[in-house]
Amino acid sequence: PQDLRRFVNVQAEEPTTAQVDALVAEVRAHAPGLPVSVVGIGGGSLMDLAKAVALMLTNPGQAQQYQGLNLIKQPGVHHIGVPTLAGTGAEVSMTAVLTGPEKKLGLKSDPTVFDQIVLDPDLVRDAPEPQRFYTGMDCYIHCVESLTGTKHNAFSDAYGTKALELCRNVFLGDISRDEADEQLMVASYFGGLSLTYSEVGVCHALSYGLSYVLHHRHGVANCIVFNQLEAYYPEGVAEFRHMMQRHGVQLPGRLAENVTDDQYRSMADVALNLPFMWEHALGPDWRQRIDEARIIQLYRRMNGEA
Ligand code: ZN
Repeated sequence: PQDLRRFVNVQAEEPTTAQVDALVAEVRAHAPGLPVSVVGIGGGSLMDLAKAVALMLTNPGQAQQYQGLNLIKQPGVHHIGVPTLAGTGAEVSMTAVLTGPEKKLGLKSDPTVFDQIVLDPDLVRDAPEPQRFYTGMDCYIHCVESLTGTKHNAFSDAYGTKALELCRNVFLGDISRDEADEQLMVASYFGGLSLTYSEVGVCHALSYGLSYVLHHRHGVANCIVFNQLEAYYPEGVAEFRHMMQRHGVQLPGRLAENVTDDQYRSMADVALNLPFMWEHALGPDWRQRIDEARIIQLYRRMNGEA
């Protein structure tokens, strides 16, 4: 049979478990047996979709059953990642982040990792602004969070430190656009490795809540959140603001037209439901250091209130 090619529009929202189930059904209906390979070409959303589809072709049931750590039991179909945006680290991470009916959480397991990847800086050359900046900052934030928490180690530090240095070259240095594209692509890969062996922190926990409830995309959600986290990452936030200024990037002043109290509570619930991130960022006694009220206060600040 012919290859099955699908263009997936990820402008409006991040990948969902239902979308993965639908794609898997389409692949199954296309031809008997399993495909030779699943190839994801695009940004982090596309790569996560490809990883999830490859896994769900060999694991029974629905994708939402596998949101969590090591719930995937069978190796997936061979899968290849071809990033056209640099920063997410999805090309190397062991997770496929999906929004499900109950939570935003990845299918995190050893078989999630791509069998092959193609890192070609020519493919990221035309990335539009401010998308390129937001996605690049995802990498910067991965490094800051990976390096500063309790789970950091010599391996994650080695990759995180180098990736941070490359991000500084790209967003604060005086190098050509071609050099910057090449370095950002390597930074993304190293940053992804760093967080895989350490963990992300406060920014990603809050960013998941924001994306789950108000559907902001990961890169911009991270930037909106990180800008309010000087209490947790003072040096990182100062440098991030410097990078924004240098690139003339202005964050949205509001999260949405109207954010209800219920929505604030839901966002905080999603964020608090990521204990491994909080423990990494704030230590084993993190429940004494952060709570719903404090989180809602931070979200209100992102929305230009108080
Ligand atoms: Zn991220």
